[in-house]
Amino acid sequence: MNNKKEKTNTIKNNIYMLKFIFKHTPFMVFGYLFFDVLANLPWTLSNVVLLKYIIDVATEGRDYYRIAVALAFFVVFVVITNLFTTLFYEVSMPKQKEKLYFAVYKTIYEKAAKMDYEAYDNPEYYNDLVLAMNSMNERAYTVLQDAQDVLTNVISVLTIGAVVVSIDPICLVFVMVCVAIMTPIGRLIAKVNVERTEAMTPLDRKNLYFSRVFYLQDYAKELRLSRAGAMVERRYNRNIFDRLKTISPYLTKQWKLYFCQESLPMTLLIYLGITLLMGYKAIVTKEVTMGDFAATFNGASSISTSVFALTSHLAINVRENGLYVEKFRRFMNAKEKMISGTKTTVFEKPHVIKFENVSFKYPGTEKYVLRSINLEISPYKKIAFVGYNGAGKTTLTNLLLRLYDVTEGAITIDGINIKEWDIKSYHKNFAAVFQDFSLFGATLGENVSMDDCPQKEKVEDAIKAADFDRKLPNGTDSILLREFDDDGVSLSGGEAQKIAIARAFYKNCPFAILDEPSANLDPVAEYALNQSMTKAANDKTVLFISHRLSTTVMADEIYMLENGEIIEHGSHEELIKLDGKYAYMFRLQAEKYN
Ligand code: ADP
Repeated sequence: MNNKKEKTNTIKNNIYMLKFIFKHTPFMVFGYLFFDVLANLPWTLSNVVLLKYIIDVATEGRDYYRIAVALAFFVVFVVITNLFTTLFYEVSMPKQKEKLYFAVYKTIYEKAAKMDYEAYDNPEYYNDLVLAMNSMNERAYTVLQDAQDVLTNVISVLTIGAVVVSIDPICLVFVMVCVAIMTPIGRLIAKVNVERTEAMTPLDRKNLYFSRVFYLQDYAKELRLSRAGAMVERRYNRNIFDRLKTISPYLTKQWKLYFCQESLPMTLLIYLGITLLMGYKAIVTKEVTMGDFAATFNGASSISTSVFALTSHLAINVRENGLYVEKFRRFMNAKEKMISGTKTTVFEKPHVIKFENVSFKYPGTEKYVLRSINLEISPYKKIAFVGYNGAGKTTLTNLLLRLYDVTEGAITIDGINIKEWDIKSYHKNFAAVFQDFSLFGATLGENVSMDDCPQKEKVEDAIKAADFDRKLPNGTDSILLREFDDDGVSLSGGEAQKIAIARAFYKNCPFAILDEPSANLDPVAEYALNQSMTKAANDKTVLFISHRLSTTVMADEIYMLENGEIIEHGSHEELIKLDGKYAYMFRLQAEKYN
C-alpha cells in the first residue's frame, strides 16, 4: 500500500516538475523529447532492420546496388536528423536551459520573499528553502533528461520488439523471461540505493557545513588567527572516514545485484539462448534467414539493455527526482500564517502606540520571552529600551514591526489593532535600522533608498545626516560590495552602519526603530549621530535599543527590561533617582569612562 502510494507520488512529482518546465520553457520539453527520439531512432533501427536487410541481400546473392541504395537512404536520413538535433542541442538548448534556471530561481525568490519572517525559524521550511536554492535548477533539468531517457527506451523496446516478434515470436518469450528476472532485481537495487542515500544524509549535511566554513568570509578571520582550521579539518577527515565506512556495505550489495541483474539473464537468455535457437533455425533447419538471425540477436540484446536501464538506474533517478521535487513542492505550498488586514493608511505624523497586555513566545517554543507588556508611547517621544542580552528588547520591536504576531494581547496605533493593516502598507509607517542590517550589491544610492530609483539629493542629505563622509569614486552611484563589480567598494563596520542609518533618514517615516544604531560606531561618530538624530527626528517617534547608556540620556523615557518584563520605567533622571537596576548599569558604564 505504502509502496503504491510512494510510486504514485514519485510519478506525480515528476509530472509536476515537467509541467513546471513546460510552463516556462515549452520548447525545451518538446525539443528535448522529440529530438532525442529523432536522434536515436536511426541507430536503433539500423542495428536491427538495416542489418537484417544487408545480410539478407548478401546471403541471397542479390544485386549489391540494393545495399548501396539502402545505405544512401540511411546516410541521408542520419545527416538530416543530425542537422536538426545538433542545431537544437548546441544552439537552442543552452539558451533554453538558462531560461529554465531563471524561472526556477525567480519562482523560489518570489516565494521566499513572500513568506512570513517567522518561517525562517521553522527548520523544515528553512531546509526546504536551502535545498531548493542549492539544487532545484539542476534537478529540474535532470527530471527532463530522465523523462527523455524513459521515453527513448520505451520507444526502443516497442519498435524493436515489434520487429523481433515479426521475425519469430519465440524471441519475445526469452526477452520476457529476461525482463521478469531483471525487474525485481532492479527494484532491490533501487531499495538499496534509497537506504544508502538515507544513511549518507546526515554525513552530507556535515559536508555542507565544512564547505560553508571554508567559503564564507564570516569564518575566514578566525580560521586565519586561530587553530580552528585544524580543529575543523580533523572533523572533516573523520567525516570522510565515516562516509567511506557507511557507504561500503551498500556498494557491495549494489555490486552483487547489478552483476546478477546485468550478466546472468542477459548472458544466459539473450546471448546464449537466442543465439543458439535462432542460429539453429538459420543454419540447420533454415526456417529463418541469416539476416533474421542477426536482427533478432541485436534486437533482443537492445531490448534487454533498455529494460535494464528502465528498471535500474532510471527507476532510481526518477524516484530520487520525486523526493527532491516533493520537497520543492512542500516549499512552494507552504502557507503564510500571518493574515494581512485591509487597512492601507500610511500616517503623515506619529500617533500613540500602545502595547496592551502583550505576551509572546516564538513559534515552536514553549517559553514566553515577553510577558504582560503594557506600555503607551506618545507621539514624538524618544524612547529607549535597555536591559541585559536576551531580555526581549529586539523581540518587542519585532512585534511592533509585525514580523511576528503577538501570542496574547494587542498592539495598537491610534487605537487601531496593527493586525487590521495590510502588512506592506503598515511597514511604510516605519523606518527601521537593525542590529544585523545588510548591505546589498548595488549602488550607494540604491542601498540608501532601498529601491532602484534613488533620488540623488535626498540620498546625499540622508548620508550627510548619518555622518557618512567618505568620498566614493562615483559618489552615490558607486557600487558597494565586490560580488557584482570588481571595483565594488568595501566598507568598514562603522561606515556600513552609517549607511544603514541613512536609510532611516531617507525613508522619513513617522516612526523610527533603531536597534543598537551605534554598536559599530566610535564615540565621536556616536555623538555626531545623536546630534543629527535629535535634529532630524523632531517630527518623529523614535524607539531605540541601546547597550550604551550614554545614548539613553537623551531619551524622553526609558524602559528597562529583564526576562521579558518591564522592571523600570521613567526618564534618565527618574531612574537614576530610583537607584534600581538601570542606575546600577549606568554607574557601571560611567565608571569605565571615568
Ligand atoms: P535582546 O534584544 O534583549 O537581547 P531578544 O529579543 O533578541 O533579546 O531575545 C529574547 C529571547 O528570545 C532570548 O531568550 C532569545 O534567545 C529568544 N529568541 C530570540 N529570537 C528567537 C527566535 N527566532 N526563536 C526562538 N527564540 C528566540
